Amino acid sequence: MRKRKIIFMFLAIFVILIGCNDQDNQKENNETQTNQENQGSDSDSKTTNKNQENEPVTEEEDVDDANEENDESDKTENNSEQEEITEPQYELTDSWSFQPLNEDINDKVALLTIDDAPDQHAVEMAETLKELDAPAIFFVNGHFLDTEAEQEKLKQIYEMGFAIGNHTYNHQRLSEVSEEQQREEIVSLNDLIEEIIGEKPKFFRAPNGVNTDYVKQVVADEGMLLMNWTYGYDYFSPYMDAEKLATAMVTGEAPEVDVSYSLLDPGANLLMHDREWTYQALPDIVNGLRDKGYEMLDPALIKVPE
Ligand SMILES: [Zn+2]
Repeated sequence: MRKRKIIFMFLAIFVILIGCNDQDNQKENNETQTNQENQGSDSDSKTTNKNQENEPVTEEEDVDDANEENDESDKTENNSEQEEITEPQYELTDSWSFQPLNEDINDKVALLTIDDAPDQHAVEMAETLKELDAPAIFFVNGHFLDTEAEQEKLKQIYEMGFAIGNHTYNHQRLSEVSEEQQREEIVSLNDLIEEIIGEKPKFFRAPNGVNTDYVKQVVADEGMLLMNWTYGYDYFSPYMDAEKLATAMVTGEAPEVDVSYSLLDPGANLLMHDREWTYQALPDIVNGLRDKGYEMLDPALIKVPE
């Protein structure tokens, strides 16, 4: 028992000394924690509690007024990370809609997605959705993340709690470029996103919904869920108008582009873009769908590859 304690202390000191700034070290840190948890069942809870208690104490020690705010936001972040560990409740169907994994789960849901972000309106759109308490996926393009200011926008959207999806680096039609470029379009953006928000995307949507077999393989290798959409109208000129767009999205019908029947069904996967008229239409779209009994699907509940 003593030996273990000494080894543990040695490990703890070692971990503290090397810090945890790079990924390898973080891994070691996690491994150490897992090992701690595996040790004797009695001491388990104590060790875990001790660890939890120790963190705030260290924080309090060097608290001054300026730091207090940071400490608090750190804690909130930790909490939300814990809450995010939820069991999947919905899966993607072959027609790009979502179905519940069992019959007790509400099937009358619609997923909101915003493509080509963060361009002009993405942050405002995220703020609007946040006010409406409506979750969504923002599918981002690498060419909108070149500058620090642009990267800051992505961070803001992510920190407001929205899921971030990969919409390729340069928004090229993937069937028209080499396999090497297809991979580069996807993987380089995943790396960039991880660099900015500390997390790789779990969702992928190809520009214009054009996927090749090779793209599907790369997306699977990267552990992402590939999705297109069930309907969206904001890129058709008759619907580049907030009022007309809101009506079309809520009814599912867009007669001016020959959709004279409703595409709105339970599990709808709604395509929208970072555009001014879509931004203006967002509250009416969300409220209109809710009036029809639809719940906005939380991306955190979607089953993604392990
Ligand atoms: Zn796009």
